[in-house]
Amino acid sequence: MGLADQNRFINAAALFETALDPDELLETLLGIEKSFGRVRTIKWGPRTLDLDILYYGNRRVASPRLTIPHPLMHERLFVLVPLVEIDPCWVHPVLGLSVEEMLDRLAGTDHGQEIEKVDI
Ligand code: ATP
Ligand code: CA
Ligand code: CA
Repeated sequence: MGLADQNRFINAAALFETALDPDELLETLLGIEKSFGRVRTIKWGPRTLDLDILYYGNRRVASPRLTIPHPLMHERLFVLVPLVEIDPCWVHPVLGLSVEEMLDRLAGTDHGQEIEKVDI
């Protein structure tokens, strides 16, 4: 998405419990990206690893560093397709739609997003 002329990459979703608050979780994820050798170059360009927080229960966060739920999650097939497999009934606290409903809406429109499901 964004920059089309780059290698294909793998997207996945994970669901977990954490004792970290949202800011601490972001800090931790950025540290993990770094340990995987991520160097920040162009926006949406190739990267070794990108870890985003899609949501955090029903919490909403809007700070300069962190927006939760992720502001583009409902527009991305590569987010909703893996997510619906693990948490189809989670309801977006701003849009009032479940993951399943967001995916139905997005899948019904052509956004030019090419995805292919693979087993890893
Ligand atoms: P996108 O947000 O469109 O997926 P990206 O993941 O490529 O873009 P990055 O360059 O990885 O963007 O992140 C830039 C900054 O976005 C991070 O340093 C972080 O402060 C901020 N950010 C805001 N909301 C979130 C979120 N929900 N999850 C992860 N990072 C976030
Ligand atoms: Ca991202
Ligand atoms: Ca990111």
